[in-house]
Amino acid sequence: MLLSACLRRCARLLYWIPVTIVIMVVMWSYYAYVVPFCWILLSSSTQKGVFLCLFHVCFVMFSWSFWKTLSTPPSSPSVEFQLSSSDSLLYEQERGDMEKSPILLEISKKLSVHTRKAAGAIRFCHHCQLIKPDRCHHCSVCQMCVLKMDHHCPWLNNCIGFSNYKFFLLFLLYSLLYCLLIIATVTPTFIQLWLGKLFDSCVKLHVLFLTLVSAMFAVTLCFLLFFHIWLLASNKTTLEWLSVPFFVDGPASEAFDVGVRANLSQVFGRNKSLWPFPVFSSQGDGQSFPLRWQMSSYSLSVMNGNGHRAMEGSVERASQRVSQLGDFRKIWITG
Ligand SMILES: [Zn+2]
Ligand SMILES: [Zn+2]
Repeated sequence: MLLSACLRRCARLLYWIPVTIVIMVVMWSYYAYVVPFCWILLSSSTQKGVFLCLFHVCFVMFSWSFWKTLSTPPSSPSVEFQLSSSDSLLYEQERGDMEKSPILLEISKKLSVHTRKAAGAIRFCHHCQLIKPDRCHHCSVCQMCVLKMDHHCPWLNNCIGFSNYKFFLLFLLYSLLYCLLIIATVTPTFIQLWLGKLFDSCVKLHVLFLTLVSAMFAVTLCFLLFFHIWLLASNKTTLEWLSVPFFVDGPASEAFDVGVRANLSQVFGRNKSLWPFPVFSSQGDGQSFPLRWQMSSYSLSVMNGNGHRAMEGSVERASQRVSQLGDFRKIWITG
């Protein structure tokens, strides 16, 4: 018992190794840019001032979003999704899944749950003893159920989900800008070094590695950022991209896609002035989400749309309506 507790604690410490590596690389890149590159190599004070100013804006935004993604704990489902002691007792008394399933179905009627297991059963977490809300998954590293779980990021040692997805996207964006700024400003000096015009070996090494490491990270971040922009526009999580969510009628990959604008405001919020900053502004409670077909039926009833094209257009208009309403549950009432 004591041994397993010690092993668990050691494993938790090991999870911080990638985070430490990232922090050390960032600290070194800061030093290499500010001291050897700006202070030692650059001769023009105007250039020095402009470069340092731009660099520090990127660095502050990048560090802020990195810290917010890292330090924001994942959200877990509210108590209403947890089994009461009487329900739990009833559930434990039954032996097979066939017998347990109707109990969960009965409890889930009070909750707004639409996603199912592939076999059609209610999604239940045995570790946390709760009915999983839509888009919620259990993370074996964090040992909890995470709302709108996207993935567990080892480089941040945190789950990316409803509580910090906006911060994660901004972290990707600002880290890419940080790398691109370094590449754009350091490359002329890098070429001079390459041609052998500068001789200080220590400065040379810092600038060479700074350019190479930034280029390497920029390529990786570019792919990752564009992938997440596509996920954001189509309202999917990485887990939903890997495994299509199931509903009562079967799988539906586009189930949560309610139009690009509404998808964007679900994560970034309605107040556009908050979009560039890593402060929480996502819509909803992370437990219930508007579904594409509910939006369609709502818009069709409003607009008397007919045919497929009318439906497509009305989804977009209904999305705008959701942005105005703010509270997703209202759309179900009006729909
Ligand atoms: Zn769980
Ligand atoms: Zn996790």
